Amino acid sequence: MHIGSHVSIAGGLLGAAQEAYSYNANTFMVYTGAPQNTVRKPLDDLKIDEGKEFMKEHGIEDIVVHAPYIINLASYKENTYTLAKEFLAKEIERSSAFGSKYIVLHPGAYTDKTAEYGIERIAEGLNTVINAGIPDITICLETMAGKGSEIGRSFEELKAIIDLVDKKEYIGICFDTCHTHDSGYDIINNFDGVISDFNRIIGLDRLKVFHINGSLNTCGAKKDRHANIGADETNPKGKDCIGFEAINYIVHHEKTHGHPFILETPWISKTENLYKQEIARLRGEII
Ligand code: FE
Ligand code: FE
Ligand code: ZN
Repeated sequence: MHIGSHVSIAGGLLGAAQEAYSYNANTFMVYTGAPQNTVRKPLDDLKIDEGKEFMKEHGIEDIVVHAPYIINLASYKENTYTLAKEFLAKEIERSSAFGSKYIVLHPGAYTDKTAEYGIERIAEGLNTVINAGIPDITICLETMAGKGSEIGRSFEELKAIIDLVDKKEYIGICFDTCHTHDSGYDIINNFDGVISDFNRIIGLDRLKVFHINGSLNTCGAKKDRHANIGADETNPKGKDCIGFEAINYIVHHEKTHGHPFILETPWISKTENLYKQEIARLRGEII
């Protein structure tokens, strides 16, 4: 099982791989720079070869890149939309240089337009980027929690985007447990039913990456606030409403087998996180 967490890119790809190793992870996810802006270090400064060497030596593979939040392919504003397409194309190049097979993308938010408008706009943006020629990578549209006007809150919305993309072989899905739960899918009591709906609507062949997070809220709350896996009331970041059993069931499920599992759970303080414990527990190493 490939399991890891989001890690920092501040020390380049080498620093990211070393941080992952410190959690006993065998995969990880990074942003290629700050998620909220477009400032990016040149690739030459990101210790890519050293990072790849370290990963090879320590059995870390199948890594994931997350595109920054500022990319909104559903925007009707021309400057936002143009920047989104241009920046996504650059991020795809950077992901490929990192040796990642996947770039996770929030589909977009339609703001004052409609979901239909947003879906078409996203697909048109993806077509522009993909048809211009990109490296061999899968753009993984993330399942979203459904807060505000974000698109991707149902399998049907994601499917509607994919239907409008010309080169579908470049498109996959990142399944986020917090988000699907928050958007109303009962992954606690009926993950089998949820994954079979996914298969019927989108197709399991599109499923590439998992974000494994608890949620501070109940099913259908549409909030998107992540919790530590199985956290109880004593956790300073709050109680997980999904629970360890449900997440553990998902990561060991036959239909999720072979995909990277990435934790995006909250840090307890500026200097402390639970990634190492969460990973060990999901591997069955500690109870
Ligand atoms: Fe995300
Ligand atoms: Fe996520
Ligand atoms: Zn989230």
